[in-house]
Amino acid sequence: MRELLNFVGGAWVRAAATEELPVTNPATAEIMAHTPLSSAADVDAAVGAAAKAFPAWRATPPGDRIRYLFKLKVLLEEHADELARTITNECGKTYEESLGEVRRGIENVEVACGIPMMLQGYTSEDIARGIDETMIRQPLGVVAAICPFNFPAMIPLWFLPYAIACGNTFILKPSEKVPMTASKLFELLAETHLPAGVVNLVNGAKAAVDALLDHPGVRAISFVGSTPVARYVYARAAASGKRAQCQGGAKNPVILMPDADVETTTKVVADSAFGCAGQRCLASSIAITVGDGRQTFVEALAEAARKRVVGYGLDQDVQMGPVISPESRARIEGLIEKAIIEGAKPCVDGRGARIKGYERGNFIRPTILQDVQPTSSIAQTEVFGPVLSTIHVRTLEEAIELVNRSCYGNMACLFTRSGAAARQFRYEALAGNIGINLGVAAPIAYFPFSGWKDSFFGDLHGQGRDAVEFYTGKKVVIERWPLEWSRKF
Ligand code: NAD
Repeated sequence: MRELLNFVGGAWVRAAATEELPVTNPATAEIMAHTPLSSAADVDAAVGAAAKAFPAWRATPPGDRIRYLFKLKVLLEEHADELARTITNECGKTYEESLGEVRRGIENVEVACGIPMMLQGYTSEDIARGIDETMIRQPLGVVAAICPFNFPAMIPLWFLPYAIACGNTFILKPSEKVPMTASKLFELLAETHLPAGVVNLVNGAKAAVDALLDHPGVRAISFVGSTPVARYVYARAAASGKRAQCQGGAKNPVILMPDADVETTTKVVADSAFGCAGQRCLASSIAITVGDGRQTFVEALAEAARKRVVGYGLDQDVQMGPVISPESRARIEGLIEKAIIEGAKPCVDGRGARIKGYERGNFIRPTILQDVQPTSSIAQTEVFGPVLSTIHVRTLEEAIELVNRSCYGNMACLFTRSGAAARQFRYEALAGNIGINLGVAAPIAYFPFSGWKDSFFGDLHGQGRDAVEFYTGKKVVIERWPLEWSRKF
């Protein structure tokens, strides 16, 4: 049984904490490793190592810093298969989905390699006679990221490459449910020979998070996870004077207009709702059918749900894996039950799934609930499982109003052939990531991963230019150099 270690100051170290949690394969129920629940002392050791490394790293030219990222990119590509297998084994998604996640992570490393240019400030000559003004960006110091279980490789890579390319030193606190991928990532980081202390890994859960939030040596916190925890992290980080960006949960609607292409729309929406077993913050969870399209789309989606092959993500032809834990499965099945009591029709009911050979796995089959009431609990709660609720309205305006009434604003999508409808939706929908004829509107690495309302707390998002803004402080220098002084020489 593997006992996971922290990576602090360039070395693998055992956590001082004595408590630990098992890491369980959600398809087979096999316990694969134990993760330590690091304490405040463990966090303090990592902050100390990162703070020690900061002055020399900050003074390393950006063009030299990114050489380590070039190496990391190559190593990630060489080890993509191994990383993907680890993701599938601890997180449950299919091998293809895991490989896709690694690819999206690598894209962030690639974009961060452009930091020498992205870090540039700007200058104005002669803001007054003989006076020039310049803005330069400088790193903050020690920064940390706290990550969720559902993208164990990609989400740490939303933050780490930009943070260190900007000259900060970094601490990762991965999800305690999926710590093995982060360990592999740090094995690769160690192979790049980054100076000791530039990147650090602290395993653990709430105690480690609280210690990072309260530590005076940590300057900025990036968080991704559920909304209640995002709200808490944002408030506690702010209370100790830190910069914070906190991405929260979601309840993503997709609007299906009657003129949308039935075949492609059905495929894309089913992939969005059931891909990664619905455990994506960009999973569509409510399909709003407009006008005449109702029956056609519900029947087509039900057919797609029934056909989806569910099983262990490393087995061939499997299209959907298990959910993360037995507790999660029980919670999702409870939400389906409540929805039915509240009047929804179970068009396809995925509860009680048993997969031959994997009877101990946390499987739920794709589920479609029809005629869900907008005020019912299923319509307002993040399910984070393979459940698609359908709601019917008469007009696009009514559909947009439903979208905008949600307390979440992570993603909203529209399926149509009408440019006018698309423009109206893009203009009026209150969500940070908008998809037109797309089911998972995941921004590419050089765009901010947005999110509005209760799906995001902060100002600057992850990825792209926002990441550079988040990980640097702006310094303005105003200089007076009268010409007559040089004439004296
Ligand atoms: P989670 O909120 O349970 O955990 C996220 C992190 O917070 C973990 O590292 C965990 O150790 C820590 N944590 C949990 N409870 C805590 C507490 N009480 N105090 C301090 N720290 C705590 O989330 P999860 O279940 O791992 O991930 C799923 C959630 O993440 C979903 O809600 C999903 O929508 C969201 N998510 C959002 C995005 C986005 O971009 N908005 C992306 C991925 C996942």
